[in-house]
Amino acid sequence: MSGKLKFAFYWGASCGGCEIAVLDINERILEVAALADIVLWPVAADGKYKDIEAMADKTIDVTFFNGGIRNSEAEHIAKLLRAKSKVVVSFGACATLGGVPGLSNLYGKEQTFVRAYETTESTVNPAATRPGARTAMPEGELELPEFYDNVFPLDKIIEVDYYLPGCPPTAEWVGKAVDAIASGKLPPKGSVIGLEKILCDECPLERKNERSIKKFYRPHEIMPKPGQCLLEQGIICSGPATRAGCKARCIEVNMPCRGCYGPPPGVVDQGAKMLGAVASLVDADDESEIEAIVSRVKDPVGVFYQFSLAKSLLRSFRRGR
Ligand code: SF4
Ligand code: SF4
Ligand code: SF4
Repeated sequence: MSGKLKFAFYWGASCGGCEIAVLDINERILEVAALADIVLWPVAADGKYKDIEAMADKTIDVTFFNGGIRNSEAEHIAKLLRAKSKVVVSFGACATLGGVPGLSNLYGKEQTFVRAYETTESTVNPAATRPGARTAMPEGELELPEFYDNVFPLDKIIEVDYYLPGCPPTAEWVGKAVDAIASGKLPPKGSVIGLEKILCDECPLERKNERSIKKFYRPHEIMPKPGQCLLEQGIICSGPATRAGCKARCIEVNMPCRGCYGPPPGVVDQGAKMLGAVASLVDADDESEIEAIVSRVKDPVGVFYQFSLAKSLLRSFRRGR
């Protein structure tokens, strides 16, 4: 490889954890610095959009974009970086699936604003002041990005070349992505940079694969039997509907998987896949008994679609409609 590459990092509707995940590769960040100049990284450096706008198209070798698209600024920068980049990597669960912010698609902009700016337990806002796209001030008009009714995964807005799953992606897989870029050995366009199997296949817990659920438990309600599959003990674990790659890091600490690595190969709707997996394990035939068991799942959309609602077949569903 001759000369240094050019990388850009950007965040849309993001918590910032994916930015930290880049730094989690520790001393390997020095390899990234040796490999590439970073032309935009708002969380870490004072880059200007006008400098990116002034670049010729396809000047940036790789853009790593984390977070979904929830406002007009993120959409504008996503389209700008797409035009200026040879390769765009959808970095993390929020960019790839909408992530946790995508759960607000259940409610839309109006209800989200009421909750965020008026009714949260920590809010004191008697005038119900909200951010407005345009606000007249003595000094002139202030402009904020337009907040959208829905969160969109990045690939609903621009073409994406590769997907790096996880909330956030693990340092191991960030390192593998950097290695693939450095060596020029990237997988076919459109690939997920990850393993081609489900999380249960790398989970150390034993599965019996038989109907065993008589009651669902939230993790704090039960001490799981060691060595045995959490799902088969009634703790909803998304392993059967989640791509492997994280080494089952939540299960290692007795917490069920919530599905952040996204759907496994061949699965479009992660939540629907998970519903099927759970239904096959409920140990009851009587309708009222099944209803009693299922009624213990208090927030089915939040449980089954924690990261993937914005990319699901349910994505246009709204509560109350
Ligand atoms: S994928 Fe997770 S860590 Fe990354 S921005 Fe979304 S919530 Fe944060
Ligand atoms: S369902 Fe969860 S606990 Fe059970 S084997 Fe799969 S990943 Fe492990
Ligand atoms: S166990 Fe599940 S939720 Fe936890 S890091 Fe792995 S894929 Fe994500």
